[in-house]
Amino acid sequence: MPDIIQLLPDSVANQIAAGEVIQRPASVVKELMENSMDAGSTVITVIVKDAGKTLINVVDNGCGMSETDARLSFERHSTSKIRSADDLFAIQTMGFRGEALASIAAISEVEMQTRRQEDEVGTQIEIKASTLVSHKPVACKQGTSIKIKNLFFNVPARRKFLKADSTELKHIITEFQRIALAHPGTEFSFHHNNTEILHLPPVNIRQRIMHLFGKNINQQLIDLETQTGVANIKGYIGKPGLAKKTSGEQFFFVNNRFMKHPYFHKALQLAYEKILPSGSIPSYFIYFTADPSTIDINIHPTKTEIKFENERAVWQILNASVKQALGKFNIVPSIDFDTQGLIDIPVSDKDGPVRPPDIPVNYNYNPFEEDKAAGKKGRWRNPGKGKYENWEQLYKDFHEAPSSESASPLETESEDGARKGLFDESAWMPALMQLKNRYILTPVKSGLMIIHQKRAHERILFEKYSEAVESGSAIAQQNLYPVTVEMNSADFAIMSELLDDLSNMGFDIRDFGRNTLVVYGSPAGTEKSDPAGVIQNFLHEYKTSGTSLKEGARENLALTLARASAINDRSLSREEMQEIIDKLFACKMPSYSPDGKPVIDILSIDDLDKKFR
Ligand code: ADP
Ligand code: MG
Repeated sequence: MPDIIQLLPDSVANQIAAGEVIQRPASVVKELMENSMDAGSTVITVIVKDAGKTLINVVDNGCGMSETDARLSFERHSTSKIRSADDLFAIQTMGFRGEALASIAAISEVEMQTRRQEDEVGTQIEIKASTLVSHKPVACKQGTSIKIKNLFFNVPARRKFLKADSTELKHIITEFQRIALAHPGTEFSFHHNNTEILHLPPVNIRQRIMHLFGKNINQQLIDLETQTGVANIKGYIGKPGLAKKTSGEQFFFVNNRFMKHPYFHKALQLAYEKILPSGSIPSYFIYFTADPSTIDINIHPTKTEIKFENERAVWQILNASVKQALGKFNIVPSIDFDTQGLIDIPVSDKDGPVRPPDIPVNYNYNPFEEDKAAGKKGRWRNPGKGKYENWEQLYKDFHEAPSSESASPLETESEDGARKGLFDESAWMPALMQLKNRYILTPVKSGLMIIHQKRAHERILFEKYSEAVESGSAIAQQNLYPVTVEMNSADFAIMSELLDDLSNMGFDIRDFGRNTLVVYGSPAGTEKSDPAGVIQNFLHEYKTSGTSLKEGARENLALTLARASAINDRSLSREEMQEIIDKLFACKMPSYSPDGKPVIDILSIDDLDKKFR
């Protein structure tokens, strides 16, 4: 019997390898762009026809190749990037497997022109299905241009498997975006069917994000920066308003290489947990820098999955810095955040006793003396002006400030001073006003704070219910008289499943049989709502939010119940407005409703001044 084992011809091996590396036109775009980056290019042009099915051309101004290298680059395991196994642990470049060009050439028609700076003439090579068609000198610019024509022409099964042009183009743009984001200092352009779709000048990361995703994203980005021994993290996370139901704006980069990292993604998802409804995915652009010897990029053929030596530690750092950035941002409503990052209101030490501010008082002051200078000398000095540590503190000052402010010498110093004192004080009195039964307005030092009353109430109730469900501790307040609620049997079945959790939240609801529930008590804070209405709302919310009873039930329950029991647009008494504000600022995340919509905004004095210019 003859031997049956044979070595595969290279062309077949390459085709098999191609299946791993090249799944679709987008994979070609990625590999070619990465090679261009590795070649030190500063300008890269990507030209695509018919979503890459007929042509992909990547042109760069990088180092180019010698005649020999040009030919060798299409051989399997040919790479200029690794000489020994040790190099594998110090990889900084994108490619290193030396199989991309060989794989691509196995399944397409390739035409390459390349020239190094030191060479007078360049090299042109044509290869079809791994076979050299032509190899000749050519006059060309420094750098490399590689054209891939008729991808998968010799692998009909693959070619058939390609999706509609719109889909393939979407994949190509995704790869293009990832590389463009990883290298903001490089100039890129993208052409499809003879139209330039994108032109990206060399800029910084933030501007690159804006060029790719639109100017408006700028106000939606929160800075992130953490430096630790394990890894450095830099970048931007999106405000809750940027989160979407579908993924797309989630980017991790390690040493300027895009990576997918479901485990780290979870770290973000959890950091946003309390401010995004489940199902929303936060946007992020996060750049890690790590010692190459502490990461493994070799685990995946397309090199998009990267393993860190100390994943758990990085997870913790990431999660904490995102939470911190969100928290910091949460201190400051969006308008102020983008201009200065601080609210110009004096800080009082909330734990210490309230004491009169340290004010230079002019005891020799004579109110009948027409001395304007006295007003200046006695000007109120802000004792502890600085950043606000948290909302609670900010709001405390609404109450504490007037008492200490009344000691202001400005009021008695001069006419000028007196008027000024009054003006300041009026800004400090918690003056409250309701607008359209929907907004609560109150002056703060930096302008006019506007609170969305229903969302504020939702936030308050949401945090309260979440806590209550977690601890199972809420106590029902007995209703004056029990309320009977009748419903259809489907709704009744839903309610019966939720009775335990509802009772943890402070409802006292009992099954009365025959599709009837009796509400004996409701959680404190919802007394003013009609319990039957709350239950009907709750059922409606629960059914339309589309979550199943079991999965994520607790969080959703809190959210649903908060929505169902929050006050609607209605007139509020001064005390009620006060209560909402007090409780809102005692919340962990006062700036956003539980489903991520803004609760607070500040119309700044600057904005007002602009309007009156
Ligand atoms: P790898 O990138 O893993 O080394 P490739 O098959 O992608 O393998 O490329 C093989 C080699 O061809 C590279 O190592 C590099 O030396 C050379 N090369 C490919 N593309 C370019 C380019 N645009 N400019 C200069 N050299 C290139
Ligand atoms: Mg490569």
